[in-house]
Amino acid sequence: MIIFKYAEPLARYIQQQKAAGKQVGFVPTMGALHNGHIALIDQSKQATAVTVCSIFVNPTQFNNPNDYQLYPQTIEQDIVKLEAAGCDALFLPSIAEMYPQGTTGLEHYDLGYLETLLEGKYRPGHFQGVCQVMFRLLSMVQPHQLFMGQKDYQQCMVVSRLLTLMQSPIQLITCPTLREPDGLAMSSRNMRLTPEDRQKATAIYQCLILIKQQLNQGVFWPVIKEKAEKMLTDAGFRIDYVELADANTLQPATANLATVYQGARVALIAAFLHDVRLIDNMLM
Ligand code: AMP
Repeated sequence: MIIFKYAEPLARYIQQQKAAGKQVGFVPTMGALHNGHIALIDQSKQATAVTVCSIFVNPTQFNNPNDYQLYPQTIEQDIVKLEAAGCDALFLPSIAEMYPQGTTGLEHYDLGYLETLLEGKYRPGHFQGVCQVMFRLLSMVQPHQLFMGQKDYQQCMVVSRLLTLMQSPIQLITCPTLREPDGLAMSSRNMRLTPEDRQKATAIYQCLILIKQQLNQGVFWPVIKEKAEKMLTDAGFRIDYVELADANTLQPATANLATVYQGARVALIAAFLHDVRLIDNMLM
């Protein structure tokens, strides 16, 4: 695996690969890699000839400075994992390489209502930061295909919107969420949970399963929501949201017994255990 710290030689390498007729896949990450990230590398390797991964903890997408300071960094283990997975190139830029003019007064993207609901509502500015870094990474790498996780459901929608705004031909592939044996969605932030909180954290997955079962039984959404919220608070969570949304638009989709919902729906949860914020979702 070739490691690049600068965008220019990376772009030259990718140009050479493209000139040789190879398809390029890209997996952007913030490091502290787990098997969920490696599954994205595997998907990229299956679909393309050259897989590029990036590791960059993007300061502009953290609305909480403490979360940024405490974000796990395990770069040496990450490199070993990427090598073992057969990743071809790793982009490891500095903040100055990504934001040569600094991180203030950056461009603004029109994300419409996506920015004011769910993650957008609870993490103001987060998706602007995601777009600021993704615009730069995509312009530098210019892959054919981009692999991202369904775990960050709304982020996939935001990046899809960014690709439209950029009039980009890059194809976004959304990959399923990898889970621990007890159902907890793999996440770099899981490393920050105390052993007791790690035990409790599985309640999010159990909640999503409960929501699915109860919807299938035709239970009225407000009743399910109340049960799910109680389950989370009983496990020690502080809840940001438990929502049911249209899977294509993310608009609230709260059909009850009287009105059979026509489209696909997704249940989404964001909640804290102490200062660690976890998110998860499940298609219903
Ligand atoms: P992150 O390093 O958390 O920014 O994540 C980098 C990419 O990995 C994003 O596209 C995430 O959605 C994806 N990802 C994170 N956790 C998982 C998981 N458990 N399963 C699959 N993909 C994931």
